[in-house]
Amino acid sequence: MKIAFDEAFFDSDYSDDNAALPGRMEAALSSIDPGRWSTLVPEPATITQLLRVHDGEYIESIAAKPRLFAVARIAAGAAITAAEAAYAGEPCFACIRPPGHHAYRDRAWGYCVFNNIVLALMELRENHAIESAFVIDIDQHTGDGTRSLLGDWSGATVFNPFAEDAATYLKLIEARLSEIREVSIIAVSAGFDAYKLDVGHKLSRSDFRSIGALVRRASVRASKGRRFAVLEGGYYLPDLGSNVHAFCEGFE
Ligand SMILES: [Zn+2]
Repeated sequence: MKIAFDEAFFDSDYSDDNAALPGRMEAALSSIDPGRWSTLVPEPATITQLLRVHDGEYIESIAAKPRLFAVARIAAGAAITAAEAAYAGEPCFACIRPPGHHAYRDRAWGYCVFNNIVLALMELRENHAIESAFVIDIDQHTGDGTRSLLGDWSGATVFNPFAEDAATYLKLIEARLSEIREVSIIAVSAGFDAYKLDVGHKLSRSDFRSIGALVRRASVRASKGRRFAVLEGGYYLPDLGSNVHAFCEGFE
């Protein structure tokens, strides 16, 4: 497995929201051993790539804020890198910010700018003509932007599990993943804000490991092992790194 990452994500001044919190990316990476999972350094997403998903006017409005535009393009590029690695047979976790799952074609909210996971899937459609994709979004918040952007693609499924407690949540994920017959790729919007000490007050570190493993097993069975994940939310910094690490251990 690989980690897609760029030092540009250490910039905490691109915005003043929670995703841009100082120290957040350092925390997310704190338990990752670079000797175990090496880093893929991405290229920024090109305008051509952005235009596959977003309106030109919207892209221009972001480009008017150069610092934000720079980091958001690299985040999208890292998601694309992760998807390409996954397609080639190497699972990958894109440890990125700003997040993307609340980004629509012409607007975004919830700390998001460009829809990283959709940009990544559209790249695979363009380059490899993939027919289908299954997106599981484990962030505490529904990936409304992702759902909207993939709505026109009949081969795409977006699954936002919802349950009040962790045990039911895991059962729901297991059941839904077991229904997948065959799919070109499985992608995870990996938010960590459903953590028991974060805003979701639900999942434990070992639950994140279990979710990673459930996706891995489903992927080995149904998508030729092709799978990648992109970071979305997650704001409880003391445990963000161990939760990311636990997910990656299961996902590997
Ligand atoms: Zn969230």
